[in-house]
Amino acid sequence: MVEVFELQSFCMGTIINQKVYGENAKAAAEKVESELKRLEALLSFFINSSEVSKLNNSAGKNAVELSKETIYILEKAKFFSEICNGAFDISIAPLVKQWGIFTDNERIPSQKEIDNALRLVNYKDILINFNSKKVKLARPQQMIDLGAIAKGYAADIAKKIYRECNIKSAFINIGGNVLVHGNKPDNSAWRIGLQNPIEERGKCIAVVMISDKSMVTSGDYERNFEKDNVRYHHILDPRTGYPANSGLISTTVITKNSIDADALSTAIFVQGLEEGIKTICKIEDTEAIFITKEKEIYITEGLKDNFLFISEEKEFSCFSI
Ligand code: AMP
Ligand code: MG
Repeated sequence: MVEVFELQSFCMGTIINQKVYGENAKAAAEKVESELKRLEALLSFFINSSEVSKLNNSAGKNAVELSKETIYILEKAKFFSEICNGAFDISIAPLVKQWGIFTDNERIPSQKEIDNALRLVNYKDILINFNSKKVKLARPQQMIDLGAIAKGYAADIAKKIYRECNIKSAFINIGGNVLVHGNKPDNSAWRIGLQNPIEERGKCIAVVMISDKSMVTSGDYERNFEKDNVRYHHILDPRTGYPANSGLISTTVITKNSIDADALSTAIFVQGLEEGIKTICKIEDTEAIFITKEKEIYITEGLKDNFLFISEEKEFSCFSI
């Protein structure tokens, strides 16, 4: 029997579950736990001493020297903004702040507040100098928020640690950001549940079989509030300043690197089905699942043999793209 170690912790504003197999399982899982704490201190929007806060506090003033890691994430974020024509944009933070997402003051901002915040959103204003390792936000009051990409990066770091600890088989879930390292110990693929977007948490609509990959879902059910019977969720459209209203309620991306899957799942949620498919097609070895408000599930070609629809969910219908 292969040794297994399971660890649940809380970090980066979410629950983290690990299942690690092999001799060094406990040490590896604990090392991952402490690395995630380090990453939170580096990348959090809410921690004043984080590199993200240092950058935000210097907006429009001076460039700040950042670690290689933060610069790597910023570069990736800008890359994905380009790929999806700006639907993904970490400089969305002034808007996130207006909507009070992740605070006790979730609210609908006035159109004037939205317009003012929107003027500050532009990923092209994240100016990275690779030689000096300094970064500057071009204009005062600009801000970045890595909420849509940092968990993905953290999952990739977990994988690096598993590898360094000689672990052949491990699973980590950072608040819906799943990464599996290798196969299951019996050499079969992992079976990952896909949350039913209109049911309570934990109720799955499908099972996806993956090996050595990451699977990340963005959904309007993750974080939202209701006012006058309208649901306002946490994924904002940088073109309108409002929660994305693209006809989708859940998007999932499956690919090798979790940072890519995280950025892309947010991006295609904002883009909607048609544009989202185009984005996924631009990137190699990347699969996606789109769920629409009309309860249609669209899965990309490469997934069809690894996707098991849970048939009791009769309300939904499934299509290949
Ligand atoms: P995710 O759950 O990965 O889809 O990321 C959603 C989080 O990213 C939100 O809670 C915001 O902090 C931030 N965010 C919201 N809209 C966007 C967007 N269009 N591009 C980048 N980040 C966003
Ligand atoms: Mg994301």
